[in-house]
Amino acid sequence: MIDRAVRADLHCHSFYSDGVLAPSALAERARAHGVQLWALTDHDELAGIDQARQAARRLGLGFVAGVEVSVTWAHRTVHVVGLGIDETHTVLKQGLAQIRDIRTERASHIDAHLAARGITQALAGATKHVRNPNLVSRTHFARHLYEAGYVESLQAAFDRYLGDDVLGVGQTVWARLDEAVAWIRAAGGVAVLAHPGRYDLNDLQFDALLTDFRDHGGQAIEVCTGSHTQAQSRHFAQVARDYGFLASSGSDFHGPGETRLDLGGVASLPSDLEPVWTHLVCQS
Ligand code: AMP
Ligand code: MN
Ligand code: MN
Ligand code: MN
Repeated sequence: MIDRAVRADLHCHSFYSDGVLAPSALAERARAHGVQLWALTDHDELAGIDQARQAARRLGLGFVAGVEVSVTWAHRTVHVVGLGIDETHTVLKQGLAQIRDIRTERASHIDAHLAARGITQALAGATKHVRNPNLVSRTHFARHLYEAGYVESLQAAFDRYLGDDVLGVGQTVWARLDEAVAWIRAAGGVAVLAHPGRYDLNDLQFDALLTDFRDHGGQAIEVCTGSHTQAQSRHFAQVARDYGFLASSGSDFHGPGETRLDLGGVASLPSDLEPVWTHLVCQS
């Protein structure tokens, strides 16, 4: 079991999903920024794990294998991080392969949607930013829209062209919550509800999500993440206490200059919370 006092960063992305760096470069960056326990959590993809683990091993950096699964719950997208998974497990691999197929289909829909708004060849442009042809993300479209001068920032690309409200909420149906948690647990991992502060839910809906997640076998929530304000971190620390969840912490780093927090930049968890990593085993 891992010491509760380690400096952990358990959420980030490589170019095997929508990050810009290689897994080995992320490991070096994490190490340089004082991280002692690191997880790679690419969206719906495990292809970077082996390289990440080997790099962590070379650097003497603690490593746990991770993934961030796209889920549809009550017609909304939520993300569930799996930590400490066996990335060779068939159930998890097959589940994620289905989601990547949905992503590929969705990319064509986004292309058509943008064409109808006068932006032609958007998929071809986005594809220039894709390193893993099996994994196309809205982030790749956002980078294209920014680089081609359609928008002045990645945020504006989401606000104007790629947001759920623009593309149509619920248009894409990802994995069910119970499925995603089951795949993660089948592969020996702990299921963590990612960046809860990002979901636009009222108190009643939040209670339903957290209760469903716990009933399906979810054990932890992200308390400190690059997506939360300090007030949100305080709020979700209290949620972790109230619902009996383990607490996780991760920057959600995607690339230099792209995300609010760099690797290692996430605040420490409140000391009374039980960190999720005390329930994980170091894999490097
Ligand atoms: P996808 O999973 O392909 O729908 O893309 C979701 C990804 O887009 C997230 O993981 C973020 O990296 C990025 N993203 C979502 N919303 C925003 C936003 N408002 N600004 C910048 N990036 C965002
Ligand atoms: Mn992302
Ligand atoms: Mn996410
Ligand atoms: Mn993420």
